[in-house]
Amino acid sequence: MAAWLTVASGVHQRRYDPFDISIVAIEGDDGLLVVDTRVEPGEGEALLADLGARFAQPVRWVVNTHAHFDHTFGNQVFGPGTPTNAAIYGHANIARHFDDFEGPRLAAWRADPRREPDRHWGEVRLTPPTHPLVRAITLDLGGRIVELRPQPEAHTDTDVVVFLPAERVWIVGDLVEESGPVMYGSGSFPLGWPDVLDALVAEMRADDVVVPGHGRVVDREFVADQAGELRLVAERFRAAHADGLTTEQALAAHDDWPIPVAGLAGAAERAFARLDGESAGEH
Ligand SMILES: [Zn+2]
Repeated sequence: MAAWLTVASGVHQRRYDPFDISIVAIEGDDGLLVVDTRVEPGEGEALLADLGARFAQPVRWVVNTHAHFDHTFGNQVFGPGTPTNAAIYGHANIARHFDDFEGPRLAAWRADPRREPDRHWGEVRLTPPTHPLVRAITLDLGGRIVELRPQPEAHTDTDVVVFLPAERVWIVGDLVEESGPVMYGSGSFPLGWPDVLDALVAEMRADDVVVPGHGRVVDREFVADQAGELRLVAERFRAAHADGLTTEQALAAHDDWPIPVAGLAGAAERAFARLDGESAGEH
């Protein structure tokens, strides 16, 4: 992958393997804001070194787009007790998501190191945000304004969109993916997700820059298309649930899913559990 790609004035994306993950560095007069921290502490260290080689400012702020491991497991390199000692911003639900999903995931990996021998899961210290967000806030980086906007339930219940109103840049984490199909992942909300994207699309302009969690920079039209795919999946889940189908029957009922069907089993379970809860609530 190439090094830093400048996507707008003072805003730079770098795509890191593994997972073609988007890291974004935003320059302010008072310091650097970094979006997401890679997959494990060693990768976080490498990121910190890359930032130091490219930018004059110290890292003062970190933002997690959501809780998933490939976006947060480098946090400990930047957070409390480190020389960097940056403020880590993220959704207030991240700590609970760590308890429910990333913690157990880590425990399972550690229990069977042969599964991923190249990984260093033993070094990971789950590091939730030092500044948990319950509502949108604005950060002034010095000559540059950044909005941090917690989102309703979508890819997870920890999604935060980073928006630069002057530069018209949206950094959206895994709400949008370009280099592979949309991933529902752990703790997803398949029914609400398309609404969240549609609300963002309604605010976007045609030439706005959108940085996805994985892949190259895209635009409003790309986001609208992905919202349409997610909406089709959600509508089919609702219809199948209303017809009394099982999740397996729901997935087997169509051979033209917009997302590979192998990635939909977990999403169907999540959607049906939510719909079961809604119908139980009616009585
Ligand atoms: Zn994710």
